[in-house]
Amino acid sequence: MDLLHLDVPPTAAEVAAIEAVIGPKLERLSPTVGLSETDDRRHLLLPVLHGIQSRFGWISPGALGEACRRLSVPPAEAYGVATFYALLSTTERAPVVVHACDDIACKAKGADGLCAELEQRFGPAGSDRDGTTWLRSPCLGLCEQAPAAFLQAAGEQPFERSWGHATADSIAAAMDTGRIGDPPAGVVHQPREDLRLLRRVGLADPTSLDDYRAHGGYRGLRRALEMGPAAVIREITDSNLMGRGGAAFPTGRKWAAVAAQPVRPHYLVCNADESEPGTFKDRVLMEEDPFALVEAMTIAGLATASEHGILYIRGEYPLALQRIENAISQAHKRGLLGDDIMGKGLVFDIEIRKGAGAYICGEETALFASIEGFRGEPRNKPPYPVEVGVFGKPTVINNVETLVNVPDILLEGAANFATIGTPDSTGTRLFCLCGHVERPGLYEVPFGTRLGDLLDLAGGVAGGHKLQAILLGGAAGTFVGPDDLDVALTFEDTRKIGATVGSGVVLVFDETVKLLGYLRRIAEFFRDESCGQCVPCRVGTVRQEELLARLERAQLLGSTADEAALLNDLGQCLRDASICGLGQTASSAIESAVEKFGLLSS
Ligand code: SF4
Repeated sequence: MDLLHLDVPPTAAEVAAIEAVIGPKLERLSPTVGLSETDDRRHLLLPVLHGIQSRFGWISPGALGEACRRLSVPPAEAYGVATFYALLSTTERAPVVVHACDDIACKAKGADGLCAELEQRFGPAGSDRDGTTWLRSPCLGLCEQAPAAFLQAAGEQPFERSWGHATADSIAAAMDTGRIGDPPAGVVHQPREDLRLLRRVGLADPTSLDDYRAHGGYRGLRRALEMGPAAVIREITDSNLMGRGGAAFPTGRKWAAVAAQPVRPHYLVCNADESEPGTFKDRVLMEEDPFALVEAMTIAGLATASEHGILYIRGEYPLALQRIENAISQAHKRGLLGDDIMGKGLVFDIEIRKGAGAYICGEETALFASIEGFRGEPRNKPPYPVEVGVFGKPTVINNVETLVNVPDILLEGAANFATIGTPDSTGTRLFCLCGHVERPGLYEVPFGTRLGDLLDLAGGVAGGHKLQAILLGGAAGTFVGPDDLDVALTFEDTRKIGATVGSGVVLVFDETVKLLGYLRRIAEFFRDESCGQCVPCRVGTVRQEELLARLERAQLLGSTADEAALLNDLGQCLRDASICGLGQTASSAIESAVEKFGLLSS
């Protein structure tokens, strides 16, 4: 391949930062069997860009050019990748950055006031103040502790941490020192005997493999090894475990399809790119029970004949990343990952890939593109990932919560698992209660629980206020009202009222809230996160945001009926003509609120 390289030389420190990721001789070549040498290097592009960003706080032309030379990637394409992600910067920027979340859950808990205070104290977002700056951010996945902030301090000892209940003072301290303490251990607000997936949270030490085993860990993998792959898949199929990431696809069917593929190798990808506004369940699982995910991925690898596991985790989850890295390292040392797991000849390993701030990478084909070193842009399906997934190979991709269900299903049996919940929505479900709720947090209840009962479990609407609305399923979900509290939280019952369980978000708004401002923020989110690949989404999300901004300012174009018709047209176009789920759902929450609460009735 002819490459026209950038003629700006890198500094010695930039070369060192790149070699810290790939080694001086590209020692860390991937397991991407069957790819050309050039393609084989490309998947290291995002890790290399992360390495440069975390060392210097930005990616200079010299560093980008050197990365291209080492990885044989055309500079124009590498630039396209570097500029795709919100956490990477190709323009010089202060090395210490605090991202302050102003998304819907944090907005409900005072983020607008916090950002106004930051602007007053430190200047407009992005302005340099002695090598530090602050930026506004979409959802950081700490919604139960809103408002949230995320510190990135570049340097020889880079440091990243997010924290909740952020104030201007805590942000100022983080900017001054480049450091912030660890958050307290996770808490559960329910009786422990009611919990399955959350039963170890706050109880077992998430950094200790021994403690995990003392609390029942790795019995599921032992059982899987006794049963063998075919019986494991049968059990997961019989349990009717549906995917918990939002699409609700039967897990057993997916596993069986990959296991049956003659093409080798197979890949197992864990989608931990949890970015749906209002969602934080996978973060809690990874921070508080990381070995459970490693064990579950190993079982999935066994069942689907996948020797390579890739865990793609969002870049805004530094503590979860640290805990998972530690869990993988300990599992290796104790023969629970690697070439001869538990002495039974099972070969499986897990590689971590860190996202860099792009909601669209939660879409499975975009996630594959991101792993491979391309812009995180979705592609049309078919072919489906079970046939053509990451690196063009059969791939099973599951969400964190889906996987963490697996060890218990094998231990208690599919029939017992299927007695929890309803026939079409089996098991328990994690719900992210946030916004104007008395006790925000992560709750685990059987499928079929009434929405009103779940709200009561969290103490009801905060401060004795009246309920105005609940956003169910996240920004891509639907608004419901007080008259929907009787709905049973299952895939099928929420569908009947035109809603969705989605990623498990239950974002509560009391009667004091002006919903239009939140709808405009949702529209801004989708406009910002659209990958821009297809016109209906790229343009439609802009027009939708403009329309919501006009409504918020009460400066309509024509009559209310004209704006309502335009909003409907935009929604229809987004649904019908967008390639992927982002565009197809970009108007669902907005349209549901407008319709439900008569926001555009004349
Ligand atoms: Fe990209 Fe939007 Fe098209 Fe999805 S629908 S591929 S996010 S432009």
